[in-house]
Amino acid sequence: IQVYYEKIHDARDHVVGTMLVHRDITREYEVDQMKSEFVSTVSHELRTPLSSVLGFTELMLNKELKPDRQHKYLTTIHKEAKRLTQLINDFLDIQRMESGRQSYDMADVEMLPIVQEVMESFTMNYTKHTLRVVPPAASTFVRGDADKLKQVLVNLIGNAVKYSPEGGEVTVEFRCLPKTLVVIIRDQGLGIPRDALSKLFSKFYRIDNSDRRKIGGTGLGLAICKEIVKAHDGEITVQSELGIGSMFSIHLPRQDVTVPVLAAYSEVA
Ligand code: ADP
Repeated sequence: IQVYYEKIHDARDHVVGTMLVHRDITREYEVDQMKSEFVSTVSHELRTPLSSVLGFTELMLNKELKPDRQHKYLTTIHKEAKRLTQLINDFLDIQRMESGRQSYDMADVEMLPIVQEVMESFTMNYTKHTLRVVPPAASTFVRGDADKLKQVLVNLIGNAVKYSPEGGEVTVEFRCLPKTLVVIIRDQGLGIPRDALSKLFSKFYRIDNSDRRKIGGTGLGLAICKEIVKAHDGEITVQSELGIGSMFSIHLPRQDVTVPVLAAYSEVA
């Protein structure tokens, strides 16, 4: 609470009294706290890949390197630079979404072809998993921003692949309820510990187990998914069992597909 005095003036600008003002600045304080926390996390997260890039470029500049070493160092630099780009894009996305500055280009969107497109692009890159789309029983139209919904699918299907051993199966299926379309992404991967489930969608949260320490990520993917789905008046839920697999469900309000009534014409010859 901020407390201060303010003078009260009359019409001729003479001071006629004072007023004690109590102002609740909790919200401003929280926003400030969030901002500084964000800045320090961001700087910390950026520093790791940047030091890698610096370290390896220095090695390359100072030594007479054999071509195979050179190739190895360049591969690392490339990987770390890509990670930096991903981090910066994710930071910008989440900032824009949380501050309400993200605009959504809403239209009637059919989810099935987007799911198929994302699954195909993963199949081309990760042939070691079996990716399967179960055909839906009804139409999969929702009201939404196609690019943003695709971003959610890329994140969730990407995680299903990333946190599964080679040879695992990832399936996407649909549940077409009267008012809701549920898109379900199932994997046979590492699973999620029970105590982590409630923190999963928080910014920068990553599960720190030895079995997933080598798997790269920003801890922002699920936070971004949550924001996007929230903006569509939907929600994401998760069920998971450690060592068995996970199931993420995207619930989206269904588009009322009103079939246009065709006027019947009878032409008299
Ligand atoms: P990250 O960039 O770390 O993948 P996310 O926000 O996408 O960040 O996910 C947060 C954490 O949740 C991950 O670090 C991972 O441990 C866990 N996780 C997400 N999806 C899955 C999944 N399908 N199977 C197992 N663990 C998962």
